Amino acid sequence: MAKYDYDLFVIGGGSGGVRAGRMAAGRGVKTGIAEEFRYGGTCVIRGCVPKKLFVYASHFSEDFEDAAGFGWHVGERRFDWATLIANKDTEIARLSALYERGLKNAGADILHTRAGLRDAHTIHLSADNRTVTADKILIATGGWPSLPEIPGIEHAITSNEAFHLPQLPRRVLVAGGGYIAVEFAGIFHGLGVETTLAYRGAEILRGFDTDIRAMLRREMVKKGVDVRVNCNPARIEKRGAALIVTLEDGGVIETDSVLYATGRKPNIAGLGLDAAGVAVNAQGAIAVDEYSHTNVENIWALGDVTDRVNLTPVAIHEAMCFVSTVFGGKPVPVDHDLIPTAVFSQPSIGTCGLTEEAARQRHKNIDIYKGDFRPMKHTLSGREERMLMKLIVDADSDRVLGCHILGADAGEIIQALGVAIKMGATKADFDATMAVHPTAAEEFVTMREKWTPAAE
Ligand code: NDP
Repeated sequence: MAKYDYDLFVIGGGSGGVRAGRMAAGRGVKTGIAEEFRYGGTCVIRGCVPKKLFVYASHFSEDFEDAAGFGWHVGERRFDWATLIANKDTEIARLSALYERGLKNAGADILHTRAGLRDAHTIHLSADNRTVTADKILIATGGWPSLPEIPGIEHAITSNEAFHLPQLPRRVLVAGGGYIAVEFAGIFHGLGVETTLAYRGAEILRGFDTDIRAMLRREMVKKGVDVRVNCNPARIEKRGAALIVTLEDGGVIETDSVLYATGRKPNIAGLGLDAAGVAVNAQGAIAVDEYSHTNVENIWALGDVTDRVNLTPVAIHEAMCFVSTVFGGKPVPVDHDLIPTAVFSQPSIGTCGLTEEAARQRHKNIDIYKGDFRPMKHTLSGREERMLMKLIVDADSDRVLGCHILGADAGEIIQALGVAIKMGATKADFDATMAVHPTAAEEFVTMREKWTPAAE
């Protein structure tokens, strides 16, 4: 008789957990997986996927306006929030079912329950109050929104609730200046909501390239989003149907909904980490090595619960490395270097590699190439929107260290450029590549003039 009920037990059915469970089960590893809510996790259920659908929905308002310059007459326009929510929910249900089907077809045992550790080999399943045992355990429980404890914070929502609001508010205040804040500010604004973004620092999107940050703010303001920097809510009061937000500087904003997007914390509450002896780091994330191995010999953790790089494709990559290392006989360390990423703000951002600031700290001689232009489409649409493209090059080796885009389709462009940058492409390689004309992306292979402060 087997010593344990399972060879592998996965706690958490999000992008990382499902991928690891499916790949392990597909190799004949006896796998159980537990998810307390719906399979698919943050990305599918309340993150990337519904967010991107909302971005599409919100962009139509501009598309209708832009169409006029091309000769189109667009008649009466009316947006129906309930239709968007219902259609989005249908798609999310389809994807969640696909995740479950993938696990089932691979032979995994799918459990709909909250799970917690009782010791290093024993897992308690809340749904039917029983325990199971496993030789190896993988924790992939993701993250959860983290909100500051200001008076009245209970009146605020997070992106979790934004996907299910019974009605679209007339006015919204978004607090935060990171990925989720700028994305949701764009979504609400595009859907016709009077939108204010309040960010505590001097410039939104800390950690991104300075030019990109400044230009995104300018473009958002041009569109009509009220972006306020050095601005932070101190308390929220409910007055009738309205919310009164008092700012730290004493200012007051009246709104109908306050969305907090102030970061996410690893989801470790009630997991029984102490019972199993699993160590967490100073940030409250499960501490792991480059193979996603915790300090406990038979326990691994990956994805947002480890707070390394909190992105879906990274969790999936970590899962593939885990399966190869633990069940494939081929140890593969996780590679967190040169990750292309996009922010689906409006305009969107694509970025890969070092920012100008980081490159200047690490390299002695840096060349900067910049293109700041009005995309061709807007010559006829009349929209005063600009696009920015920027390359950071190590002048000594000619290697492209970073690439940053602000503008339409930035995510699509950076995915392809990410291959070149990961391969170590030089500026000469970019220059030797034929342009695709007429595109915006051709700017990357036609930039010849080094940027100097005088050129600004
Ligand atoms: P981020 O970490 O990106 O941003 C958090 C923002 O909230 C920052 O502007 C931060 O300010 C601010 N903040 C933090 N604490 C406080 C506080 N106590 N009071 C006021 N402001 C505060 O988190 P998000 O919630 O936007 O997103 C979570 C994660 O989800 C991201 O890190 C990203 O990994 C992932 N994500 C990825 C997306 C994508 O790939 N397109 C889309 C959405 C999310 P400061 O900078 O000053 O610290």
